[in-house]
Amino acid sequence: MALEAETKRMVAQFEYTAEDVNKGVKEFMREMEEGLAKQGTTLSQIPTYVTSVPNGTEKGVYLAVDLGGTNFRVCSITLHGNHSFSLQQSKVPVPRSLMEAETAHELFSFLAKQIESFIKTHHNEHFEKHKNVPAAEDFFDLGFTFSFPVNQIGINKGRLMRWTKGYDIDEAVGKDVCELLQTEIDALGLHVRVAALVNDTVGTLMARSYTSPGKTKTLIGAIFGTGTNGAYVEKLDRVKKMKAIEEAEGGVTNYDESTGLMVINTEWGSFDNGLSVLPSTQYDIDLDRESVNPGLQMFEKRVSGMFLGEILRRALLSLHTHPDAGVALFKDASSLDNDIRSTTTVGEDSPLYQQWGIDTSFLSIVEEDQSDHLRITKQTLEKELKIEAASTEDCVAVKMLVHAIGKRAARLSAVALGGVILSTNKLEEDEIVDIGVDGSLVEYYPGFEDYIREAFREIEGIGENEKKIRIGLAKDGSGLGAALIALVAHNAE
Ligand code: ADP
Repeated sequence: MALEAETKRMVAQFEYTAEDVNKGVKEFMREMEEGLAKQGTTLSQIPTYVTSVPNGTEKGVYLAVDLGGTNFRVCSITLHGNHSFSLQQSKVPVPRSLMEAETAHELFSFLAKQIESFIKTHHNEHFEKHKNVPAAEDFFDLGFTFSFPVNQIGINKGRLMRWTKGYDIDEAVGKDVCELLQTEIDALGLHVRVAALVNDTVGTLMARSYTSPGKTKTLIGAIFGTGTNGAYVEKLDRVKKMKAIEEAEGGVTNYDESTGLMVINTEWGSFDNGLSVLPSTQYDIDLDRESVNPGLQMFEKRVSGMFLGEILRRALLSLHTHPDAGVALFKDASSLDNDIRSTTTVGEDSPLYQQWGIDTSFLSIVEEDQSDHLRITKQTLEKELKIEAASTEDCVAVKMLVHAIGKRAARLSAVALGGVILSTNKLEEDEIVDIGVDGSLVEYYPGFEDYIREAFREIEGIGENEKKIRIGLAKDGSGLGAALIALVAHNAE
C-alpha cells in the first residue's frame, strides 16, 4: 500500500491539466508570432522556401537522396497522380574515412557516384539517352535531405553551419551543400539537378499532403521520433522577418511569391526553453542538467522518444532507492506474489542504474500490457532491465508511471499542434484540418493519438471542432517528401 501511495504522489507530478494545456497553447502562439517577426527567437520559425504543397494529383519521376548519418540513401519516386506512388531505392553505408575526409570533394564525389550507379541500375534508359548529349533538357530533379545544421537561404541553397554525428570535414563548413553535390554530379556528366534542400519535417508534411485522401492539403507535418519537430503552411505576409533575413544573408535566392504561402520549419523542440509554462518534475530537471545540452530543447526533452525512457528510469530509480524500505520499488526481498514466493533482485549491471538505460519502446510495451498480473511487464523488466521476479505490485507502480509520462508527452504534443492550428485560423477557414505525423513514438505508443485528441477537446478555440482535425501517418519524408519538394521547386521556376 505504501508503494502505491508514493507512486500516486509521483504520478500527480506528471499531471498536465486542461488549464496547463491552455496556458501552453497561448505561450506557443506567442512564440510562433515572435519567431515570424524576428530572428534569434526560441521558436526559430525558419522559412524553407517551399511555397506550395501537393494535393495528390501530381505526376512524374523524381530523385531523392538522404544523408542522415551512417547511411546514404538514393531513391527514385514515381508519382502516379492519384495519391499513390512507387519507389525504388538503394542504401550504402558511408565509409568512416569519408566522414572525416580532408576535402569536401572526397565525400561529395562518393555521393555523386552512388547517384550515378543508382541511375544506371534503375533508370538505364535515362542514362543511355543522355550519355552523349550534354545539352539535353530533361534533367531529373532531385531533393536532397541533409540532416545537419544548415542555414538555408533558398530552396536549393544552404550553408553548412557545423557537422554533427561523427562527421568532420572542415573544408565544407560554411559552403553551400547543394552546390557541393551539384559540382560532383556535373563532373560525372549526370543529368540531375539538385532542385531542393530538404528538411525531414517538411518532407513529412509534403508526403502526407500527397497521400492524404481527397483534395485537402495538409497543414502540419510533425515528427515524434528520436526528436520532435513540426513544419506548417504559413501565409507569406505573416512572415514579417523575410526582409530582415534577406538583408542579413546578403540576398536570398528567388522564391515563388505568387502562392502567398511559405512552409515554416518551427524547430519546436526548443519551445519554452525559458520554462515559463512547461511542466518540470525533479526528473526533468536532473535529466536536463546531466544532458549534453542543458537548457536547450526543453520541449523535446519532455516529449520525444530519446527522452521518455530516461525520465521513466529516473522516476523508477528514485522509487527503488527510497529511504523507507516499506515504500521502495523492487525491494520486496521475499514476497508472496500470485501464490508464488519469489525474491526480487535487481542486477548490479541493470540498465536501471545507467543513464539512457531504458528505451522508450519499453514504455510502449508496458502501456499496452493487459495481461494477468502484468505478466508481460514482469518479463520485460527481466529481459530488458535485469530485474528478476518483480512483484505485481511493483509492476502496477511501473505501469502507473509509464502511463503518466506517456500521457504528459502526448498532451504536450497537443499544445504544439493546437498552437499551430489556432494560430493559422484553419479551423475557421477549412472543413478539414489535416496533420501528417511520423516517428516511432506516435506510431507505436498505444493511445498516443487518443491522448492528443483528448487534449485538443480541452483547448479553448478547438473544443468540439476536434472532429475536424484529421491525423494520419506520413512515412518517408526523406524519400517521397523530398521528391515532392523537388517537384514544387521545379514548378516554381
Ligand atoms: P528517428 O526519429 O531517429 O528517425 P524513429 O522514428 O524510429 O527514428 O524514432 C526512434 C525513437 O523512437 C527512439 O528514441 C526510440 O527510443 C523510440 N522508439 C522506438 N520504438 C518505439 C516504440 N515501440 N514505442 C515508443 N517509442 C519507440
